[in-house]
Amino acid sequence: MSQSIAVIKGDGIGPEIMDATLRVLDALDCGLDYQFIDAGLTALEKHGTLIPQESLDTIEKLGIALKGPLTTPIGKGFSSINVQLRRHFDLYANVRPAVSFPGTRSRYDDIDMITVRENTEGAYLSDGQELIDDGNTGLSVIKVTREGSERIVRYAFELAKNNGRKKVTAVHKANIIKTSSGLFLDVAREIAKEYPEIEFQEMIVDNACMQLVMNPHQFDVVVTTNLFGDIMSDLCAGLVGGLGLAPGANIGEDAAIFEAVHGSAPDIEGKKLANPCALLLAAAQMLDHLGMNEKGTAIRRGIRDVLERRRDMVTPDMGGTGSTDTFADALVEQV
Ligand code: NAD
Repeated sequence: MSQSIAVIKGDGIGPEIMDATLRVLDALDCGLDYQFIDAGLTALEKHGTLIPQESLDTIEKLGIALKGPLTTPIGKGFSSINVQLRRHFDLYANVRPAVSFPGTRSRYDDIDMITVRENTEGAYLSDGQELIDDGNTGLSVIKVTREGSERIVRYAFELAKNNGRKKVTAVHKANIIKTSSGLFLDVAREIAKEYPEIEFQEMIVDNACMQLVMNPHQFDVVVTTNLFGDIMSDLCAGLVGGLGLAPGANIGEDAAIFEAVHGSAPDIEGKKLANPCALLLAAAQMLDHLGMNEKGTAIRRGIRDVLERRRDMVTPDMGGTGSTDTFADALVEQV
């Protein structure tokens, strides 16, 4: 039986990297049926709204979406569609693996870690949650709840348990932001007791950033609140060669959206220079989530092979002389 997924091609380089990704999924014979929906600038032009109700309904019905990057128009009145989608579907876990690939410009080899970022509360409440915004003083809210912390920390431990990972590090700033970050840390300590087989470590965020740069191999799964997770996962992406290789899954109880971490890169739109790896790796995360782990592994192994052996097919951002299409050609041959 085929599995239907919602596909948002996205803005800017989105359609180019999505076409490359779908070619690879087709070559793998995943039995996926794509239901294309609009969001972002494309939707604004066609339907007068950044995220049409019909698109939300399709994601709700299918429960799974693969999403290209979306441009958020600059100016008041446009809030990020990504943030809207996360909120609408309560996608509370943002799961961002950082894995070293050969032939990339990075400082370390053999990094293999996952950041699990709380995706719905923390410092990202934004609109309407500002206490003062009078042009002279800005006062924003950080919200951390016991329930929100429990589910994200438990998600991180379950992820570790189900993937043979050994350690979970809770990253916080409980020494200074005692109320909210303190609550997160208290909850993390409690949940950790339920998983005696997994090592638990706690680390203050500033130290965690230094440790990541100096000795990243000590990390396995990191769990943290929204803002710290956003920043740290980009730091981790930098450790393994940049945003071109950084995928992210946004997971909730009833829906999951898989995407590249990077944006719509309007500066290279239409030039066939866009690196499709991050979206391909997001598709691999999606296949894992759908229980097609061997197919997910095939994509990751294929990317590794192409990066190692076919520099002529790799996009320029990774030091190659190829294009979006040649990368997909090479990967289709591999998988
Ligand atoms: P960006 O990630 O689009 O681009 C930053 C730089 O990285 C650019 O030089 C770009 O050419 C390069 N780059 C990005 N992806 C690449 C790829 N796959 N291959 C090769 N080079 C790549 O960030 P930005 O310019 O700050 O944002 C552009 C738009 O994207 C904005 O509207 C922003 O709101 C949006 N955005 C969307 C998402 C998302 O949908 N998840 C994430 C971040 C930014």
